[in-house]
Amino acid sequence: MSTWTLAYDKFTPEEEGLRETLTATGNGYFCSRGAAEWADAITDRVADPGSYYPGTYMHGGFNRLNTMMGGRPIANEDFVNLPNWLCLKLRIEDGEPFSLDSVEILSYRHELDVRNCVCARTVRFRDAAGRETTLASRRFVSMAKMHQAGLEWTITPENWSGRVEVTSGLEGRVLNWGVARYRELESNHLEPVSTGRVGKDGISLLVRTNQSRIYVAEAARTNVFDKDGKAVSAARGEHQTDGYVDQTLVFNVTEKQPVRVEKMVAFYTSRDSAISEPLVNAEVEIGQIGTFEEALRQHARAWAHLWETCDMELPKQDRAQLIVRLHISHVLQTCSPLTVDLDAGVPARGLNGESYRGHIFWDELYIYPFLNYRLPEITRSLLMYRYRRLDMARALAKAEGYKGAMFPWQSGTDGTEETQVVHLNPKSGKWDPDFSHHQRHVNAAIFYNIYQYYETTHDIEFLSAAGAEMLLEIARFWASIAHYNAERGKYEIHGVMGPDEFHETLYGSGEHGVRNNAYTNLMVAWICEIAGKVLGELPEGRRKSLRETLDISDDEVQLWADMSRKMFVPFHGDGLISQFEGYETLQELDWDAYRKKYDDIHRMDRVLKAEGDTPDRYKLAKQADTLMLWFLFPEKRLRAMIEGLGYEYKDDTARKNTDYYYDRCSHGSTLSLIVHADIEADLHPEASWKMFLDALESDVGDVQGGTTVEGIHMGVMAGTLDLIQRGYVGTEIRDDILYFNPTLTDHLDGLKFNMRFRGTPMAVELKGGTLTVTPEPGGAESLRIGVGDQVVDVRVGESQAFTL
Ligand code: BGC
Repeated sequence: MSTWTLAYDKFTPEEEGLRETLTATGNGYFCSRGAAEWADAITDRVADPGSYYPGTYMHGGFNRLNTMMGGRPIANEDFVNLPNWLCLKLRIEDGEPFSLDSVEILSYRHELDVRNCVCARTVRFRDAAGRETTLASRRFVSMAKMHQAGLEWTITPENWSGRVEVTSGLEGRVLNWGVARYRELESNHLEPVSTGRVGKDGISLLVRTNQSRIYVAEAARTNVFDKDGKAVSAARGEHQTDGYVDQTLVFNVTEKQPVRVEKMVAFYTSRDSAISEPLVNAEVEIGQIGTFEEALRQHARAWAHLWETCDMELPKQDRAQLIVRLHISHVLQTCSPLTVDLDAGVPARGLNGESYRGHIFWDELYIYPFLNYRLPEITRSLLMYRYRRLDMARALAKAEGYKGAMFPWQSGTDGTEETQVVHLNPKSGKWDPDFSHHQRHVNAAIFYNIYQYYETTHDIEFLSAAGAEMLLEIARFWASIAHYNAERGKYEIHGVMGPDEFHETLYGSGEHGVRNNAYTNLMVAWICEIAGKVLGELPEGRRKSLRETLDISDDEVQLWADMSRKMFVPFHGDGLISQFEGYETLQELDWDAYRKKYDDIHRMDRVLKAEGDTPDRYKLAKQADTLMLWFLFPEKRLRAMIEGLGYEYKDDTARKNTDYYYDRCSHGSTLSLIVHADIEADLHPEASWKMFLDALESDVGDVQGGTTVEGIHMGVMAGTLDLIQRGYVGTEIRDDILYFNPTLTDHLDGLKFNMRFRGTPMAVELKGGTLTVTPEPGGAESLRIGVGDQVVDVRVGESQAFTL
């Protein structure tokens, strides 16, 4: 089995959407689904879009439209499906344009070459006239040159000679039609600007998003070559209409003689740097791109360099190895070195689908650890996405009567709150109110991410220039949303939701949000401690200027210190942390009854609401909430935090809470598996490994039954990689030392990866009960590495083996 190829050997129409997502090709700037070139993009509001869904998306490609619902305008910012550059159609003699429906399929293969990020399809078919033909396609979005993409068709007439027509188009009339439950919303985001011809062999298209006014230009150069690479002469015809342009090449082919069609594409938008104007640059670029082979070579080399930094080798686990590599590929297709110069956050569902409208949530928390230890310059750039929206976060806080900065639950173009106010329940067909914006914990995640980035890199310039300002403003927000309960002698936070989105209120209370979500409150205690520490770590001049600019008084610093010692944490039972205050009053759910009644109970919220009930009534969770604490903090640290707040932490606290909440979780978000697998790594290693394997299969197998079609789950994909490095190899930074604490060493035997810590690259290998760390040149002269109680200064170029 190849651990570098995701392949399908049979055409299965109902799986095509999923495969398109998984075989997408992107470069961290733009990305296209692995749709067949002959498939039409959706240009009309059709009820059934069929099996194919061509889609191209880019960072920041948003457009906001109003839809009238129940007489009032509902605004939605969408992730715009951009013009389809894939279009190639084949017609043999005077037959119908080729499609899989109109021929007999003799053989079929669709694959993603994961190493080179090339999407390929090969179809051998017999048409109605008995002609047998092989059509092989390959395509990539260049990781070397951000604006370039290439597509190649090799056509081999197996038993005939004759005339063929190949139509190469750019389709700009596409709708956002990828997510069925959004189809009642306005979905027409593009308006045509111009189409044109470029030289003899080129075409171009310019469109504009109709609200955000982003210009998107595509240009394509299409040529035909024989097997020796000589140009085949082709007659060319053209067709242009509003928002669409194509060129048809007519040429002769000879039995058993393959011909190659190359379509080289340039993609520019008005958000790009260093351009004159998108169309001008796209048209210039197609004159400069080399041949398909040349451009592919550059692209493959760029990927080879990325694999040197990012691969994780699991020699004894073929299936896991393949999916781990697929996950690395998708993480890099969304966030790559080409992202560094963009104003980009991480869309929760990558750049290959429209789910969650390309918005940026708290999922960064699961994504950055993998990048921090390998390509921290990418994390830094993604964090700057938040920094540029700090003023908007201040405005959001102010509008709600708070101080500091309150980042939105869903963020898009300008950092305003993009969470929709109503949400379609596909189970009931009803639009339910959506309160998920009460998930203020996104502000804890952003704080955590900034601090983790700093811990891993020691990038004091970033901390000074941008990071600290965000940290302090977030701490300030938490101090203002909290209040002191004199009776308890504790600080409390009301009116928020935890990561478990099923509980929007304490049942029967009539309040919005819950009181004292334990996860949030503990994070706030930690945030308040770190905010003070960060002030101390800043260079003196910067500390002074930042305190002056933000007007941070001694009293405020004192307040944070006080909160770090006195946040309230609800408990019920013996050592059980309550997910929120009053949780213990809720009813137990009859899980067995629901399992019997419904095939799929992941989304118990939808099931219960469709039954006229509400998840608020029950002790159940969509995903890990309280347990996030054990995921984010090593147990020793968490124990110190909880004890520091004046509560008891016993040896069985982790075990008790994990079992309790695991039994009450529906894993309605696949993120949940990552958290549970991480926690179980120490407690129940075999159970953890099983969850890890389940998490690996979650997108490849589309376990939620239709969600991956709408885009990959970036958090889960990156989360599985982090599980290996943090959950299983036990990477932890403590007292400026990089510690490892490997577990599951049998399953992981032979594991190898590279990482970097504070500027110093290193190789890590786990084999035969030994962990070997080899720091490499390029950073410090030595690294302090700890395993258990053993701490060793390992010099660059030397290897240190730790017996486990
Ligand atoms: C999860 C959230 C997550 C969002 C985007 C939801 O289903 O509950 O935690 O941020 O998906 O991935």
